Order: sequence, then structure tokens, then C-alpha cells
Amino acid sequence: CNDDNELSEFLESGIYRFQNPNAVFIDPVRVLNRSYTRFRVSPSAYYSRFFQSKSKHHGELEVSSDSKKRKRKQKKPHNLNERERVAEQRHQKVKPVLLKAHEALLGATDLLIAMEKFTSSFRSSTTEPAAGGGGGQSFVELGRVWQAPMYEITLNYQQSSAIDHCSEQSVLPLFNSLVANETNDDVEADVLNRKYILPRGGCFYMSDLGQIHSLIPVESDYGVNLIVIDPPWENGSAHQKSMYPTLPNRYFLSLPIRQLTHTDGALVALWITNREKLHNFVEKELFPAWGVKYAATFYWLKVKADGSLISELDLFHHRPYECLLLGYCSREVSNLENRSTPRPVKDDQIVISIPGDYSRKPPVGALLLEHAPGPKPARCIELFAREMTAGWISWGNEPLHFQESKYFLGD
Ligand code: SAM
Repeated sequence: CNDDNELSEFLESGIYRFQNPNAVFIDPVRVLNRSYTRFRVSPSAYYSRFFQSKSKHHGELEVSSDSKKRKRKQKKPHNLNERERVAEQRHQKVKPVLLKAHEALLGATDLLIAMEKFTSSFRSSTTEPAAGGGGGQSFVELGRVWQAPMYEITLNYQQSSAIDHCSEQSVLPLFNSLVANETNDDVEADVLNRKYILPRGGCFYMSDLGQIHSLIPVESDYGVNLIVIDPPWENGSAHQKSMYPTLPNRYFLSLPIRQLTHTDGALVALWITNREKLHNFVEKELFPAWGVKYAATFYWLKVKADGSLISELDLFHHRPYECLLLGYCSREVSNLENRSTPRPVKDDQIVISIPGDYSRKPPVGALLLEHAPGPKPARCIELFAREMTAGWISWGNEPLHFQESKYFLGD
């Protein structure tokens, strides 16, 4: 029957398509695994927040504590200011779509049972807290020291996958250089005695924002068709500040989105938080500055392993969802109106998943690819990335963060 097909497809791809055409459930671990041949992403490391005690970890999963709920609820009934009213209207508009998507998930019993089995299997097989969280190499710090230009990465090719059969290793600068795994296999790499796994066809450029212009292709035919961006927005939270540096909004205005775009155009996907000020900034300043025409909004609805929402839908400052704004960019301003896309992107699509580490976004690239203009396979880039994807370019000041071997189950 249809549900069985959906489930077996999900077990294969990590994407479960409900009968409700506006919603999908994704298991990031399965989706990410599609980038690797020999290695597997460690579920216990991905879902490490399951293992951390409530008092230790920060973020949405802890909001189930009753006292916290009460505190947050008490805060709510105050007079909303103008901006909060607009935010509330926006929320009320999308709420029915989110509820319908959540209903679809709760109705997919086969999927919920599979996820419960999956998460309990790695929970019971691990006694140690999972690998996630802190303790890894801080590339942000490393990139700031005077020795940064001297740090290197060593790529160790498997005998069979060595591009040039004579060289089984290549040594490249770690920062401000394009490091590519041009083979069809995972490659293990070393940086300062730690191991990293680079997916096939994946490359990264690790630098500060100041060097991003090095990525602009000399010829626009080499530009990209899909650009996923997750900027380090400021949000005032002390916890966030301890996880990675943030930047004021004006810094993002100068991102060279149009210069990175392929002659045939690009689909741009931008993660934003629920702050109304940010919605305004993107709509009125950022997209116009980038030459991006708004097309649709996707919502990432966050659930726990049992399918329940990580927080109440109406909790004003802690919504259990985040927005992904989509738009099209054309190299020539005049082309924006008569651009043709293979499959125009539909508004209000809901992507449901269990969140991973702090601020880690689900891998939505696979869902966006079919909407990217230009030749296939689409050329893709992720900006402010903390991980790599097969065939993609990852740029940011720590694109190797989740590539460390502790986030993988060996080969
Ligand atoms: N999408 C990522 C994920 O799913 O894990 C999270 C990205 S996080 C919101 C933003 C990233 O931007 C962080 O890795 C942060 O270190 C990086 N960043 C902050 N300031 C930067 C700068 N000046 N240049 C480059 N990257 C920067």
C-alpha cells in the first residue's frame, strides 16, 4: 500500500512524503548519509541533545520542563507592540498549515514507530554521552591567530580512489584555499592530529567573510544555481554567543550573491529566525541588495522523537519552527521577471524533523534541487556552513566543524 512505499522510500532516502502535499518529514541522519560511501553519520552524535541532561543543555528540547512552561506562559499576556502584532498575525496565518502538517505526522504511525525504534536503538546502545556539543577543534579561533596561513590539511586517499595513482596524499593550506575531494569516495583528512571525513565531490573554503570574494567565479558559467545561507544573525542570547560569533545585519548586505549566481540564475534559500525585525530587513533591504526576488517561505517544524512539538506552537518567543525564505537571483536585473524555472517553488511548505545540535539546520538541499534553475546537476553552495555535502561547496569560518570523525561511525 502507499504507506508501505512511503516508509521504504523514507528508510532509503530519509525523506517521508505525506499525502498532504505541503509537508515532508526528514531524518537528517539518513539524508546526510547519502553524501557518504564508506562512513555513516553517527545518530547518537547528531541527536546528541537527547543524551544531555536538562540542566546541562540549552535550546528547544528542554522547554518540556513544566516550571519553564509556566514562566514563559506568564510572560505572554502583555500588550503587544506594533512589531509584535505583525509577528503574531504572521504566526496566526501559518498556524493552520503547521497544524495540518503536524496532524499528518501524527497520523503516519508507521513512520513514528520507525523513528521511535531508530532513536531508542542508538540510545540504548550508547552509555556514553554522545559526541556532539563542545570539545571539537575551534576553527574560528584557529583562523584568527597569526599562524593561520601556515596550518595545513592532509587528504589521505584510499589506494583505489587516488586521482593521481602516484600520490596518495595531498597537503593543502587549511584557510583561504579551496580544498576539494575530487574523488568518488569519502576521503579521510588530518588537521592538527584530528581526523575529518570529506564527502565525494565536496569542497570547502574556510575563511572569514572578508575573503568571500575569492569564491566569485571568473566566468559566470561557473556560477551556482542553488545558494543556501544560514547567517550568524545576532539574537542577544549569551548561549548563542558562546557557540559562534555573530554579525550585525549590515554585514550581510555585501554578500556577493549576484556575482556567485550562474548565468541561468540561482535559487536562494535563506534561514531566518522568527524576529519580525529580521523579516522586515530581509524583505526591504537584504533581498533587494542581493538582487533576489522573493518566491516562497518554507517552515522547519521541530519535533521530538515521539512526534510531539518541541514547544507549544503559540509560545511567543520560542516558536517550535523557523523560516526558510526562498527567492530567485538573476545575474541581470532585467532577467528577473522573464526567468523560467523547471518547477516553480510552492509557498508554505513544511519540513518536519527532530533537531540536532544547537542551531544546526536540517539538510534541505535535496528538497530544493528540483526548483533550482539552470543545467543539471545544479551547482550548489552553502554559505556560513558548518558541514560539507557531496558535490557542494561549503563556505564559512568553520565548514569542517561537523566533519570531524567523532560525528561518524567508522568504515
Ligand atoms: N547552517 C549551520 C548548521 O546547520 O550547522 C549553522 C550556521 S551558524 C547559524 C552561522 C555560522 O557563521 C557559524 O559557523 C559562525 O561561526 C559563522 N560565522 C560567523 N561570523 C563569520 C564570519 N565573519 N565569517 C565567516 N563565517 C562566520
